Amino acid sequence: MLPEPYAGLRDEARELAMKVEPFATEADAISTVHPEVHRLLAESRLSALLVPGAYGGRFDAVDPLAVCVVREALMATSGNLDALFALQGIGSFAISVAGSEQQRARWLGRIASAEVLAALALTEPEAGSDIRAVSTAVSDQDDRLVLNGQKSFISNAGAAGFFTVFAREREAFSLFLVPADAPGLTVRPSPEIIAPHVLGEVDFNGVVLDESDRIGDAGAGFALVMATLCIFRVSVAAAAVGLAQAALEEAVRHTASREQFGRPLYRLGPVAERLADSWGEIEAARLLTYRVAELARADPEGTLHLSSMAKLVASETAGRVVDRCVQVMGRFGLIRQSKIERLYRMARPMRIYEGASEALRPGIARALVTELTDLSQEGTSAS
Ligand SMILES: Cc1cc2nc3c(=O)[nH]c(=O)nc-3n(C[C@H](O)[C@H](O)[C@H](O)COP(=O)(O)OP(=O)(O)OC[C@H]3O[C@@H](n4cnc5c(N)ncnc54)[C@H](O)[C@@H]3O)c2cc1C
Repeated sequence: MLPEPYAGLRDEARELAMKVEPFATEADAISTVHPEVHRLLAESRLSALLVPGAYGGRFDAVDPLAVCVVREALMATSGNLDALFALQGIGSFAISVAGSEQQRARWLGRIASAEVLAALALTEPEAGSDIRAVSTAVSDQDDRLVLNGQKSFISNAGAAGFFTVFAREREAFSLFLVPADAPGLTVRPSPEIIAPHVLGEVDFNGVVLDESDRIGDAGAGFALVMATLCIFRVSVAAAAVGLAQAALEEAVRHTASREQFGRPLYRLGPVAERLADSWGEIEAARLLTYRVAELARADPEGTLHLSSMAKLVASETAGRVVDRCVQVMGRFGLIRQSKIERLYRMARPMRIYEGASEALRPGIARALVTELTDLSQEGTSAS
C-alpha cells in the first residue's frame, strides 16, 4: 500500500493516463510532441512535481517517489506522455538546484505549468555512455562565451523552450542554459527509432552566451548531471515497471479469454509459468524501485548505485516480461500498433538510455565490493 500523498498522486496520474488512452496509439506513433497529450499534461498540473515549491512545485524539493508513481502510471499508457512528463524534470533539475535566481524565476514556473518544455543535452555523435568525451565546448572570445558543437538524440529537441547543455569549459565541464531561439542554435530530426520518441540533433554554431547563462559554477557541470541522475534515474525503473505491468495485463486478458486444447491458454503449463514468473518479477522490481526512490529522497548522492540497480533490474525485467507476453499471445502479439506490440518496441530503448545496462553494472559492482569490504573490515575490527 502506498501512503499519502503518493497514492493520491498515482490516482491523479491514472486519471491523466485514462484521458490519453483513447489516442495513445496515435501519440506513440509520432516523433513530435502530441498537442493533445501536451494540453492534458498541462491541465493535470502534474509537472508541478518536477520543480521546487518556491517556483510553483508541489513539494519543497523534487521527490523521486512522487516522480516514480506518476511515471509508472503514465508509461503504462503512452511513451509520448511519460517522456513529456519526465523531461520537464530531467531538463530543468540543474536549474532548480543550482540556477541563478533570474534563471529560476524565468523558467521554472513555466516548467511547472508545462507551458515551456525542457531538454537536457549531453549525448553527441561521438560521446554516449562516456559523457566526459564530449567535444561541444565554450570558449572565451572578447569577453563573451561562445558555444560550438553538436548534440545528438536529444529528447524534446524541436519542442523545448531551452536546452540544458553539457559542454567543455577550459579543463572542466559546465552546464549552460541555452534558449531554443538563441542565434546559432539549429535543430534537425534524429533518425527514427523503433519506438518513436521526440528526438533531435542540436547544432551550436557560434552561439553567444553570457556568464549569466551558466548553470551553477564553472566546472560544476559533471556534478550537476550526476545530481540530476541521482533523482531521476530511479524513475526510469518506475516507467519500466509500468510498462511491464501493462504488458502483463494484456497477456492476462488474452490468455484468460482464448481457449486452445479445450481450456483457457493460461491453464497450459508453460503459459502459466510465464505469467506467474512475470508477475513475481514485476512485483519485485516495483518494491525495489519504491524503496530506492524513498532512499534517494533522503540521500540522493549516497544512493546512486541503488538507483542504477533499480533501473537495471526494472528495465531488464520489462524486456523479459514483454517478450514473454508477446509469446503467450501467439500471432495476436505480433499485430502492428496493437498495445502489446507497441509495449514490446517501447521496452527496448529503456535498456539503453539513462545508462545502458552494461554501463551500469561496473558501478553497482564497485559499490557492492566497497560495501562488503567495509563490512568485513568492521567484522574483523570488532572481533
Ligand atoms: C529514446 C532515447 C532518448 C534519449 N534522450 C536523450 C536526451 O534527452 N539527452 C541526451 O543527452 N541523450 C539522450 N539519449 C542518448 C542516450 O543517453 C544514449 O543513447 C546512451 O547514453 C548510450 O549511449 P550510446 O547510445 O552512444 O551508446 P554507447 O555509449 O556507444 O554504448 C553502446 C553499448 O556499449 C555498451 N557499453 C557502454 N558503456 C559501457 C561500459 N562502461 N561498460 C560496459 N559496456 C558498456 C552497452 O551495451 C551500450 O549499449 C537518448 C537515447 C534514446 C534511445
